[in-house]
Amino acid sequence: MKLDEKGLLIVISGPSGVGKGTVRSALFDMTGHDLVYSISMTTRKPRANEVDGEDYFFVSKEEFEKRISEGKMLEYAEFINNYYGTPLDEVERNLNLGKEVVLEIEVNGATQVREKMKDAIFIFIAPPSFKSLKDRLMSRGTEPVELIEERCNKAERELHLAYMYDYIVVNDSVENAADKIMAIIRAEHAKTERTIQKYKQILEEENEY
Ligand code: 5GP
Repeated sequence: MKLDEKGLLIVISGPSGVGKGTVRSALFDMTGHDLVYSISMTTRKPRANEVDGEDYFFVSKEEFEKRISEGKMLEYAEFINNYYGTPLDEVERNLNLGKEVVLEIEVNGATQVREKMKDAIFIFIAPPSFKSLKDRLMSRGTEPVELIEERCNKAERELHLAYMYDYIVVNDSVENAADKIMAIIRAEHAKTERTIQKYKQILEEENEY
């Protein structure tokens, strides 16, 4: 029996290179949950393997700023000279359909979501060590050296912000991390504050017999 039928808004953050994307894919491969990934919008140029409308919606700075002024972004942030943000309409539509919506965003954006969506769950993915993170960023080979340096510095600063999140999940292995996130989602659905209304309703129905 399901006591909580509303979808959850799940915010996942973590420094560049921590493997958020890989953990997210593993999470989405697990069956039994109706997860929807919120595709972000960015002014960053696509990487060689990235597809518009799948990895991101790639737009111009003007288009992005227009959307901000029209109130169409749930949150947005500037990250290494580019805008990144979450289009609001799809998030609302999917939550209203009872689906779990997953955002993969950096910490400033997560703070904005915390202020606007009181029910959201915040998960920080941490590396097993700072060295492993640096090694991953260096070996990724998708960016010029100066940008890698900048990402490393930013990553180090972000690691200190994990305390703002509800959960910290160490990405020691992709399967472990995805398993833990799924366990968090299941436990959150069972929380009294999410289930009590339906539970009371069931008790009242039983009293009628
Ligand atoms: P990347 O350039 O590596 O794809 O992303 C850079 C950073 O931007 C990552 O930490 C990523 O999680 C974050 N990011 C991606 N989409 C969004 C978004 O919609 N909003 C915010 N605030 N950050 C995002």
